[in-house]
Amino acid sequence: METCDALIVGGGPAGSSCAWRLRQHGMAVTVLDKASFPRDKVCAGWITPAVVQALQLDTEVYARERVLQPITAFRTGLIHGRYLETRYSAAVSFGIRRCEFDDYLLQRSGARMLLGQTLKSLEKRDGLWIVNDAIAAPLLIGAGGHFCPVARFLGAKLGAGEAAITAKEIEFEMNPQQRADCRVRADTPELYFCRDLKGYGWCFRKGDYLNIGLGREGKQGLAQQLADFCDFLRQGGRIPGDIPDKFHGHAYLLYGHSRRKLLDDGVLLVGDAAGLAYPESGEGIRPAVESGLIAAAAIVEAREDYRRQTLQAYPDRLRARFGPETARSGDSVPGFVRNMLAGALLGSRWFTRRVVLDRWFLHAQQPGLQ
Ligand SMILES: Cc1cc2nc3c(=O)[nH]c(=O)nc-3n(C[C@H](O)[C@H](O)[C@H](O)COP(=O)(O)OP(=O)(O)OC[C@H]3O[C@@H](n4cnc5c(N)ncnc54)[C@H](O)[C@@H]3O)c2cc1C
Repeated sequence: METCDALIVGGGPAGSSCAWRLRQHGMAVTVLDKASFPRDKVCAGWITPAVVQALQLDTEVYARERVLQPITAFRTGLIHGRYLETRYSAAVSFGIRRCEFDDYLLQRSGARMLLGQTLKSLEKRDGLWIVNDAIAAPLLIGAGGHFCPVARFLGAKLGAGEAAITAKEIEFEMNPQQRADCRVRADTPELYFCRDLKGYGWCFRKGDYLNIGLGREGKQGLAQQLADFCDFLRQGGRIPGDIPDKFHGHAYLLYGHSRRKLLDDGVLLVGDAAGLAYPESGEGIRPAVESGLIAAAAIVEAREDYRRQTLQAYPDRLRARFGPETARSGDSVPGFVRNMLAGALLGSRWFTRRVVLDRWFLHAQQPGLQ
């Protein structure tokens, strides 16, 4: 039986960030992931500067061999409506490709990696977690994303009874003709909201790659809204006429909408497994990274006492950072009022810059994790 100090299930940004910090404190960490890396992840691939800061990413080194697209403006509006452009004097976000970003972070973490290995069995024996009858550890970290098996072990009803965001996207390398036909500028991602304000579509160019997608509350109507969104982009001449049609879907939970149990004796959840994405924008990479780092700090401070009451510092700090877990939903506002509000608000330059972009999408009011 192989042993380690901490076993992390899932090598996405949450798992690799946690592993990286635990390794810095000298712990023996193993990351188990069912995928072989580099692997892709359904995502638009937009990160805010707080992610760069928390991960101490050297952007120059990173960009030498990978896509790191600075974002200095946004084009926003309603689907089938008018649009506004908002410009900034410096980069306020970056575009990355998840196949590169996640692989880079995992390799950098210094953890032992067991890749291409699915968690098949999990049990607790004599105070140790035993995974796949092959690895034993006193501490288990569930970082397996929305359908994390460790979350299921802690009682989460994955995919049922949870108000998840569902989203579909496609990312592809454009050929020379498609590059010429694409009018989306790489430094200016485009965001277009659904009229009921329950979701939005994006069109995001990263070097030669184009990422198009749409996410909304609940599953209903997603395929139809996505098809309609792509028609809107095509009709406006924003994207080439011949984009591939193999969109990939995924679900995840917004902070405040999840009732998942985050910890128990010797085990805790981070990232999407814990349901932490920002409710206004659906940004999940920053909460994944921050929760991984916050969890690592609580683990180190616990000094090998991994009882629930000791690890409680982790959810307490998450709450202090992300606020109380009250679901923020606009369902109390009648549909026709939302539609009218959407048009008026998204037509306002002040509201778009100060509220939609600075507050909801860039979280400029929340300083990076120290
Ligand atoms: C369409 C879409 C677009 C998005 N766009 C953005 C965006 O632009 N910016 C942003 O910040 N957020 C975005 N998000 C959210 C973001 O992708 C997630 O919040 C983020 O990936 C969470 O990271 P994580 O490490 O918690 O989980 P993940 O990145 O999902 O990693 C989980 C890992 O666990 C592994 N795993 C799962 N099950 C098992 C198992 N049984 N055994 C072993 N390993 C397992 C998986 O292979 C995976 O590598 C988007 C989400 C979607 C669906």
